[in-house]
Parts: sequence; structure tokens; C-alpha cells
Amino acid sequence: MFTPKTVAIDGPSAVGKNAVGSLLAKRLGYRFVDTGAMYRALTWKAIQLGIDLTNEETLAKLAVETDINLIPSENDEPYHIIVNGHDVSHDIRSDSVEKGVSLVSKVAGVRQVLVAQQRDLAQNDHVVMVGRDIGTVVLPDADLKIFLSASVGERAHRRHRELVKCGVQSDYESVQASLEMRDRIDSERTVSPLQPALDATVIETDDIDEEHVLAQILDMIKAHR
Ligand code: C5P
Repeated sequence: MFTPKTVAIDGPSAVGKNAVGSLLAKRLGYRFVDTGAMYRALTWKAIQLGIDLTNEETLAKLAVETDINLIPSENDEPYHIIVNGHDVSHDIRSDSVEKGVSLVSKVAGVRQVLVAQQRDLAQNDHVVMVGRDIGTVVLPDADLKIFLSASVGERAHRRHRELVKCGVQSDYESVQASLEMRDRIDSERTVSPLQPALDATVIETDDIDEEHVLAQILDMIKAHR
């Protein structure tokens, strides 16, 4: 049977990468690596320190100096994210991080440091890794590459529902505006822009939920036998 050691799942914000990726990782018994959480964690740290998020040199230095750890979790959450010993799993979902993360993640020096850490994680474990550039840059030789896609309206609904569920105050229009802004910065940046790898399978998810996406991916793995 085909057993991919590395599975790359890419796609835009709020498309369901984390939900599908963590379910798949659980199913395969692999480590789940959410690379977006790493960029968010660094953004959180930069905001804490009052760093100007357009100061590329300082952000790149901060990336070198900051210790970011994704710890697999035993409870309902797929992982905890720890920055210099502090659990920031909740803080990285704040509005200020949401608004700033695309500025931090477009800095080449930041990406260099985090991509190296992501490759190390994949070296040491079987992984399901989710992000924007996993199939294109981080793990170009990944055994299985998936790109999830959905309209911005559907993604805004999903993110809005998630926020309401977590008790975060938000309105649908501002959620959509924030997604559109991140989409634009993530797709237009010069370093590792969001795009499907040429050998990725694109799954349109507007009309299917995460369980169905998971089933499609598991079918692809079986069909590879
Ligand atoms: O996936 P999530 O929405 O949590 O990612 C937050 C942000 O981190 C993205 O909008 C993007 O700017 C950045 N990111 C990235 N490359 C990745 C993962 C996330 O640039 N591999």
C-alpha cells in the first residue's frame, strides 16, 4: 500500500486546511504541522515587543532569536504553540495577529528561518503539513500534494462561524474584508506566493465539508496502491 511519508496541504485562508489536515494526521497517525501557526506566533511576539511590522530587518532578527514550538496535544486541540516557553495557542487567533501576519510572513528573512524549522520537522517524523507554500517550497518532494480551494464568500462564512463558536466578537463583512486583504498580500508577494504546486491535486471545497474532503484524500491514498 502507498504510504506517503509527507503530505502537503496548501490553500488560502479559512479554506479548512487545519480541520482537514488535523483529521488526516490523526487518521494516519502522523504529526500535524500547521505552519500558519508558526507565522502567527512570530507576529504575536513582534506585536508584544512593539516592533514595526514593516521593519523587515528587525523581523528577520526576531525570527532567529525566537523559540517557536508546536507541541502535539492530547485533548481536542491538535497542538499547542509555545513561544519562548509561553503557550500562545489562543493569542495567535487575535484580530491584531490576523491583521499583521501577512506583513510578517512576506519577509524573506523570516521565511528562511521558519522554512528551515518546518523542513526539520518533516525530516524527523511522518507529517501532514499545512500552509501556503508547502508543496512548492518547503517540501517540493512531498509524497502527496493537495491544494484546497473555495470562494472567498464561503471561506468568510466558515471563519465567521469559527469565531462565533469561540466567543470572539466579529461581523461577517469585516471577516471577509480581512480574508481578502490576506489573500491579496499572500498571493502577490515575491517570496513563496500562494499558488498550487504543478503536481498538486486541487480539491474544490465550496460544496463539501471537511469529512468529505478527508474521504477524497484517503481515496487518493488507497488508489495509489
Ligand atoms: O493558515 P493561516 O491562516 O493560519 O496562516 C496565517 C498567515 O501566515 C497567512 O495569511 C500567510 O500570510 C502566512 N503563511 C505563509 N506561509 C505558510 C503558512 C502561512 O505565508 N506556509
